[in-house]
Amino acid sequence: MLPNVIVLISDCLRKDHAYDKTIMPFLNSLNGTFFENAYAIAPNTHFAVSSMLTGKLPLSISLTWKIDKQKKQFMITNFLPDHHKMFITGNVITSSYYGFNHNFDFFEDFLKESNKEKLNEKIENIETFWTNIKKNKFISKFRFIYNIGKQIKKTMISLTKFVLPNQNININLKERCNKIFASFFDNLPDNKSVFSVLHLMEPHAPYCSINIDKHLIKKVRKVTKRMYAHKNLTQKEIKFLKERYTEETIDLDKALNGFTKKLKEHLDWDNTLLIIVSDHGEAFNETGYLTHPSQKISNPQHIKVPFIISGGFAKNLNLELADNKLIWNKDIYDIVLSIAKGNHQVKLKTQEFITGIDKHNEEHFMCSYFFPEKKVLFEGKENIFGLNNEYTKKIKKKIENENFNCNK
Ligand SMILES: [Zn+2]
Repeated sequence: MLPNVIVLISDCLRKDHAYDKTIMPFLNSLNGTFFENAYAIAPNTHFAVSSMLTGKLPLSISLTWKIDKQKKQFMITNFLPDHHKMFITGNVITSSYYGFNHNFDFFEDFLKESNKEKLNEKIENIETFWTNIKKNKFISKFRFIYNIGKQIKKTMISLTKFVLPNQNININLKERCNKIFASFFDNLPDNKSVFSVLHLMEPHAPYCSINIDKHLIKKVRKVTKRMYAHKNLTQKEIKFLKERYTEETIDLDKALNGFTKKLKEHLDWDNTLLIIVSDHGEAFNETGYLTHPSQKISNPQHIKVPFIISGGFAKNLNLELADNKLIWNKDIYDIVLSIAKGNHQVKLKTQEFITGIDKHNEEHFMCSYFFPEKKVLFEGKENIFGLNNEYTKKIKKKIENENFNCNK
């Protein structure tokens, strides 16, 4: 039987928190490889997770973070024909609306549930409206009117999606990891190897432990609102937020303990690889900004990520890293596909690209990618885009227009 591969993506989990034994004692008790120099391939969920699932650098296949037609052909799911492929996500960004469900056998994004009233009802109304139109004999006779109607329907549905109640910024709508874990165990197949991605919202803002004192929730809401509105927060408020973030990380560690125990009951642990990683880190004003904006990347804790390869199967793996031992979170792609092909010797090819970090200040490497006026090496060539290059301008414009920022 092929090994099971479970990838846990913990949204916004900072490396310093993850590797702190006082905050995450269980995580740090796991056997396996803990990479010390792992970086996010992008400073936000959008580009990071789509790169992790396609193995490609952000913007290298298409100019969007969504899993569009071009990206679909590289989706990891295409290359795992013999695994039962599952993706369960608590993050709107990696929902089916943005194509992240491509080729998964089981996909759950909980949108149906949390948006039942606002979203599904609207889509249903449009569908009913359209069915009635189709019944009209006059319209069915004229193909072009029918096609125009179809276009209107498409536009109406896409406009409806903009009213998605954002579970990423609402405490009540926030999907907790225990629900994701429960869905995973409920939907495990019998006698089939599993490849599963679980995208957890701990400890993404609004930072709030499930066990928080009730009187504190009001304050969490107030400060979070101010944070999202980009108000200047006081040192006290930032400290308050970070404390809530830490509490949520502690929750996550406890949940991971329960998850791993259950995993050992349900799956053959010796034949299971458990990868724990985050899409990016989180900033708490160390360099003058909060959360994880893509416009500012001057804080290493914003882009440093935990990267842990555990599970009983990990002992069979031989990870060959570049000399400087740096790794991207998108390297899960190569690791997973190597294992699926029965190749336990995994060569990671990230050194060339990362050279840019050493040569010019590490804090600018991602900026250079998104904002190429900052010079760094990129895939061995200096600043391949060039500031006045048409392609650079196109990318910048596209990012400005399209980058749906989960901080807003
Ligand atoms: Zn994220």
